[in-house]
Amino acid sequence: MISYEEALQTILGAISPLGLEKVSLFDALDRVIGEDIFAGRAIPPKDNSAMDGYALRAEDTVGASKEKPIRLEVIEDIPAGTIPTKIVGPGQAARIMTGAPLPAGADAILRMEDTKKEGQKVAIFVPVTKGQDIRYQGEDVRQGEQVIAKGDVIRPAEVGMLASLGRSFVFVHQKPVVAVVSTGDELVDIDELSTPWKIINSNGYSLAALVKDCGAVPMQMGIARDKREDLIEKFQAALRADLILSSGGVSVGDYDLVKTIMKEVGNRMQFWRVAMRPGRPLAFGSLGNVPLVGLPGNPVASMVSFQQFVRPAILKMLGHRNLFRRTIKARLAEPVQKGKEVRQFIRALIRRTKDGYEVVTTGDQGSGILKSMVRANGLVVIPVGVEKVAAGEWVTVQLLDDSLDRMPEPGV
Ligand code: AMP
Ligand code: MG
Repeated sequence: MISYEEALQTILGAISPLGLEKVSLFDALDRVIGEDIFAGRAIPPKDNSAMDGYALRAEDTVGASKEKPIRLEVIEDIPAGTIPTKIVGPGQAARIMTGAPLPAGADAILRMEDTKKEGQKVAIFVPVTKGQDIRYQGEDVRQGEQVIAKGDVIRPAEVGMLASLGRSFVFVHQKPVVAVVSTGDELVDIDELSTPWKIINSNGYSLAALVKDCGAVPMQMGIARDKREDLIEKFQAALRADLILSSGGVSVGDYDLVKTIMKEVGNRMQFWRVAMRPGRPLAFGSLGNVPLVGLPGNPVASMVSFQQFVRPAILKMLGHRNLFRRTIKARLAEPVQKGKEVRQFIRALIRRTKDGYEVVTTGDQGSGILKSMVRANGLVVIPVGVEKVAAGEWVTVQLLDDSLDRMPEPGV
């Protein structure tokens, strides 16, 4: 049996980011960029107006007021997207719309609201300073400036920036294909005719959903019977994947054959059993060159182990720098007890309170009780060495989703 930390290190040590692929900007959201982005052009490309109004010379507006307006000659109209044709001289102005290029000679924009059109003239009611309401060339991005770095996640803001720079495609890390092999003679698929002693292969579905949730591509291999030939056949087919997950068959039962196969020629088992609960019977190694995580069969154990070990591995393959779930400190609403030798993950519901967060367990913590996972939005993490935590103490909670972000502050 090895520690949680050692298990995590071993798995991450065996995983590398995948290579790059070219994707359209439309498909780039949430992907990890594999290239540094330098601006090939300035943004904005030219000095332009930040307001609908008049482009003029600031010195012509000195002393203007509502009572004593100054009148300027309007020499042209510059809608957005057109090129000015005239130079604004003393006593002159050009009517200009937001985003239109600044005409030569002008050094400020006076907004429409402080003017009144009078035929070919405009009356101006306030003075402006030089540079007012002009967006200068390159004030957002200078040509040649680095705006995005390798390893950054592409969010909507990055999509906008790439678009502004004229990039309709971008290089990102490939998505790993993750094979999911469910093992067990007791398993049936959802729509198969069943008998009361059979169990629906729910892990195949929850694990595929978890894989998708990480941004990777699940490859559903279906159910392998607890027979050597059947397991080997399914594993052979899974070798096309970048990572293989199996569920079940890694315990100490007579028909738990996954470990046996991992120990055969050409394969490898690096460890088996981790000092954690749920999820102790976890095996890690490889089939040929493909890493294999042998997850426990119990539905909660397989999901919790996935969160701790598989999710970081997949995120690393995707090129992410931050591999781990966010943790927060929350006040425990009830006392908990655990075995001293293991790191315990307790399914729990976190709520916002006036002084931070409060966390309650979601009921029966048996590793087959999926309902307590359904009700949970986090896992209370209690380290090795601790046996009891009293109600009211602050504990570390790993968030399993972003439900807290959508929960209003109390009293708001
Ligand atoms: P095992 O580790 O193979 O002995 O599996 C432990 C228990 O987990 C089994 O008795 C099943 O009840 C349950 N189990 C195993 N595989 C699955 C699966 N794919 N879907 C749902 N439950 C499973
Ligand atoms: Mg089994």
